[in-house]
Amino acid sequence: MIRHAELEEFSWSVRRQELWNRCRRSYFLHYYAARGGHDQFADSELRRIHEMRSLLSEKSYLRRLIAMELRNKFYLPHEEENPEFPEHVPRLSFAVMSRFNREFRRMLTGEFQRDHATPMLNTLYDNFTSASEIKARLDRQLSQMLDALESGVWAMLFRSRFLHRRPIDSPLKVAIGHLACFVAPIIAFQERGILSIVANGKTDSTALLLRYYAMNQLHIAPQNVHTLELIPEEGILKESGIELNIGHTLREIRNGAADMLNAIRPSGDVAIDDFPPNLNSCSDCNFRFFCN
Ligand code: SF4
Repeated sequence: MIRHAELEEFSWSVRRQELWNRCRRSYFLHYYAARGGHDQFADSELRRIHEMRSLLSEKSYLRRLIAMELRNKFYLPHEEENPEFPEHVPRLSFAVMSRFNREFRRMLTGEFQRDHATPMLNTLYDNFTSASEIKARLDRQLSQMLDALESGVWAMLFRSRFLHRRPIDSPLKVAIGHLACFVAPIIAFQERGILSIVANGKTDSTALLLRYYAMNQLHIAPQNVHTLELIPEEGILKESGIELNIGHTLREIRNGAADMLNAIRPSGDVAIDDFPPNLNSCSDCNFRFFCN
């Protein structure tokens, strides 16, 4: 299998680096082999690779669901309310649970087969566990997370004055020199000169990219930026990048990107044989049916 690499601009992300480190074959399948598979009229093998690429683990689905609804509520328009102080803390659980029930129904009706942009769980796709078992498990986990959030950090976040909330794109493109990078913040707010950015990740690379964004786009010095990881399972925010070594992390990102770009042949092609499988990583890989 051979694809042409330069059809899309190369960009670096934590997710891309993780796949690269974990199994080169899965990296190839995810970033190159699946291209074009979103098209309903693509051939069946390409459609299937793209389907596998789009599957979500239960943990990442739940985290994504909560992050999306938390972001929606945090940035809701507030024209009819006091512009400075929220009057009450809205429940997060209603919005999250209704979205979950809606999306789970769609998963069961196979909407994902028609539109790969709709979420689908890898456990449902595998068909090894009954749908009702999966639903019950996710219901339980979601309720625990929502209890933890509503009695924890959600109330604190929502009490921040509307005037202090800062819109931020997600995903967010951050340029390091000529290298385009992507990171996915959830929300941002700024009080007493300190910009706090909440994200799902806790890596130093995430902290670095968010500081780069703040410095280059908002002109806020890195020491005035706090990056926080949302841990919905515990209902808390945890500061990330506390021991960030900017030079070291920058080198890691640049070297990682250089390794990935070096895997492209001089002709601009990428070939599956240049990306060896790592059989130690197969147990929870989305592509295991393809590889087998
Ligand atoms: S199934 Fe294993 S070898 Fe194949 S892509 Fe996944 S991790 Fe790599």
